[in-house]
Amino acid sequence: MSVYETDLGTDVVRPGDPGYDDAARVFLATGEPACIVRPRGPDEVAAAVAHAARHDLAVSVRSGGHSPVGHGTNTGGMVIDLTHLGAVEVLDTERRLVRIGGGATWGRVAAAVEPYGWGLTAGDTSDVGVGGLTLGGGIGWMVRRHGLAIDNLVGARVVTADGRLLTASHDEHPDLFWALRGGGGNFGIVVDFDFVAQEVATVHHGTVTYQLDDAGRLIRRWRDVMRAAPEELSSTLVLAPRMPDVPPTAILLLCYAGDPGSGQSEADAAIEPLLELGEVREASITERPYAEILEHAQHPPGLRMVARNTLARELGEEVITAIAWAHAGAAPTAFALRSLGGAFGRVPADATAFAHRDAEAMVVCGLMLPAAASEEDVDRALRPWRSVAALGAGTYVNFQGSADPEDVAAAYPPATYDRLAAVKRRYDPGNLFALNHNIAPATTDEAEGPAA
Ligand SMILES: Cc1cc2nc3c(=O)[nH]c(=O)nc-3n(C[C@H](O)[C@H](O)[C@H](O)COP(=O)(O)OP(=O)(O)OC[C@H]3O[C@@H](n4cnc5c(N)ncnc54)[C@H](O)[C@@H]3O)c2cc1C
Repeated sequence: MSVYETDLGTDVVRPGDPGYDDAARVFLATGEPACIVRPRGPDEVAAAVAHAARHDLAVSVRSGGHSPVGHGTNTGGMVIDLTHLGAVEVLDTERRLVRIGGGATWGRVAAAVEPYGWGLTAGDTSDVGVGGLTLGGGIGWMVRRHGLAIDNLVGARVVTADGRLLTASHDEHPDLFWALRGGGGNFGIVVDFDFVAQEVATVHHGTVTYQLDDAGRLIRRWRDVMRAAPEELSSTLVLAPRMPDVPPTAILLLCYAGDPGSGQSEADAAIEPLLELGEVREASITERPYAEILEHAQHPPGLRMVARNTLARELGEEVITAIAWAHAGAAPTAFALRSLGGAFGRVPADATAFAHRDAEAMVVCGLMLPAAASEEDVDRALRPWRSVAALGAGTYVNFQGSADPEDVAAAYPPATYDRLAAVKRRYDPGNLFALNHNIAPATTDEAEGPAA
């Protein structure tokens, strides 16, 4: 059977087919894959995996297509697009147990569980996929209140490289379940995830825009307020890129997720100190259903977006000074500081493959370069950022716009990486799932970790 003759089910798109160009494109990249396969169930996922292995095709697994590296497409390989596996099913209303297809988007999830008075802590963008965001960790509007997305995951069904359909949970294949919670798409294709939703009716959500006279002072004040804030409050401080002839600004994005029925006064008391961080140009905060606050992200046309991040254990003077200095540099750079702590920080570091539980904040830098920028241009523009990154404890793979082996190694403490490599050896020894923040399979049986 040739690469173009398939037993892959009904929905396969090849070069020249109607819709190919759209199907080959994801949020941050365009590819020329040999085929895009859209399986309708675990059997068709397994058939696609077997076909790719037989023909030695590189495999992109696509959920929402928002990989910061563009891993959701490739050139010459196969894309397994999980778009038909996007259902959201409530399994148990008492336990708030929800089964979510590996190709669903978070906007769809939020809309599906809202009628029950529930929400699920995840990202802040409606189009981002449940697959990619969950497997990396999932930091969102309620991270301090309800933790990462993975902290509410109780099971997953996975098609592995050898075509088996396995259940991963605390009781079944616990090693795989541990690795899926932060280790990315390395271990198989998750056809569905079982989550426990949270009781979330409405949240207080909005933005505050400040004049940016002194970035260091603003960050320090924000840090101090967030250190004292209740964990119902999560916020992100964004230093907007500096532009010629435009007064510099900073924008605070905030979400207060109180208990259902909690009063306005608790929310006001938590939010008020944030209105006093600096000279406020504009503020807009409203109480809204959680499902309504997820944004629809757009890619600015004509620009090459470059993202890097680091998890800062402590926003101390050295880190703050480095951020303020890098923000003032020549290339227009946005910095987003996401507050962590609270429920996020109470999970033991070795309980999930996302290990940086002691981080106070995630610092993300976003460079906006001309579309034609070369790798050398990117490298040069990133130089100021490196002085910030050098002070961090590690990275979050989902916001890391590069996936060199050093970048992947930086995402995990050495013991976590070794444990991931052992699980990779067990479930994907031939590294079929390599188009991701790739964990190389361990070469020996050492560090096998807990039993499969
Ligand atoms: C505009 C934008 C906003 C974002 N906001 C947030 C945010 O608020 N919080 C946050 O934590 N992250 C955020 N991210 C980062 C996001 O979590 C990652 O980009 C993530 O990889 C996107 O997942 P996806 O499914 O949309 O992407 P995809 O490109 O479809 O998938 C990314 C990778 O995940 C793996 N994968 C996906 N689905 C599966 C599956 N079912 N089984 C096995 N492997 C799979 C594959 O390796 C794939 O290459 C954002 C990214 C963007 C571009």
